[in-house]
Amino acid sequence: MYDIKSMDENEIAELLCGMGQPKYRASQIYKWVADGVESFDEMSNIPVSLRNLLKEKCYIYCPEVLARQVSVDGTVKFLWGLRDGNSVESVVMRYRHGNTVCISTQVGCRMGCRFCASTRGGLVRNLEPGEMLDQVRYSGKAADVKISNVVLMGIGEPLENFENVMKFLKLVNSDAGLNIGMRHISISTCGPEGGIEKLADRDLQITLSVSLHAPDDETRSKIMPVNRNTGVEKLVEDCRRYYERTGRRISFEYLMADGINDSDQHARKLAILLMGMGAHVNLIPLNRIEGSEFVPSSGERVKSFIEILEKNGINVTVRRRMGADIDAACGQLRRRKTTEKEDG
Ligand code: SAH
Repeated sequence: MYDIKSMDENEIAELLCGMGQPKYRASQIYKWVADGVESFDEMSNIPVSLRNLLKEKCYIYCPEVLARQVSVDGTVKFLWGLRDGNSVESVVMRYRHGNTVCISTQVGCRMGCRFCASTRGGLVRNLEPGEMLDQVRYSGKAADVKISNVVLMGIGEPLENFENVMKFLKLVNSDAGLNIGMRHISISTCGPEGGIEKLADRDLQITLSVSLHAPDDETRSKIMPVNRNTGVEKLVEDCRRYYERTGRRISFEYLMADGINDSDQHARKLAILLMGMGAHVNLIPLNRIEGSEFVPSSGERVKSFIEILEKNGINVTVRRRMGADIDAACGQLRRRKTTEKEDG
């Protein structure tokens, strides 16, 4: 069975061709799917016989809200039930410049970052393009807002699910569908081997955020096992090439963990590492997760860190904490539900 929501018009045309059906139906069917129909019977301009044939080959699944948490700041977090019983999270954040949804790209994650809840149970599977698209569509519907921006910053490592993520970008960008422009889409990555180079080759106008979190191999490898393959120097070199190739400045995410990566020495190293590439550093207050020894840095530490970066001409901001009261950091809701299930 094919997930029709993951198919583009050409793939639908190929499927129709194999069924001996006229090709022009592909654009009609694609339009219905892109428009968000929930059953083949809603495709009113498609003959019933063809709808039945489609039902034999494809499915239309709509995710179910398993849990919803609403923060005092208006942030809403959803836990979605998928067709095979797995679940993933999305978060809707309301900003003055528009509503943003943060979506997951995998069920679980195999990157193993020590401060992150998403990776605790390892990777279960990749999400299909249609499952990512559904998070955008249904988060907007369920929160009753129009989504204008999408960030791939939820559970999972987008560049480890590369082809499905590329397909998702194409679908979410499609005129017939949600029509969200590439410049309104961000991908966040910890930089698995070869990922950023591959992305640079696609030459997209998306915004790239790189989860750096440390300016040297000693610190980074300790908290992010992915660093043992690539290393900081190579990662930043790939980022420089990415910038040259796409003309898009990169945002580097840096979470501030007390006594781990937040010394003045770390700040100086970071400034030197990122010089001359128009980089932006986004400092992230650490969200404490259960069973983790990581503690957020003090306000004083953060202030000193910012001063050093700014003195060295690095553009820096501190991320606003959205939905802190509902554990909006990725992976925590799914983690809790999965553990409850295991316990009970
Ligand atoms: N795998 C991708 C995207 C998912 S994580 C990546 O690594 O970028 C999204 C962001 O949240 C990353 O910057 C990640 O490092 C950060 N993050 C994970 N756990 C966190 C925590 N407990 N506190 C603050 N930020 C966290």
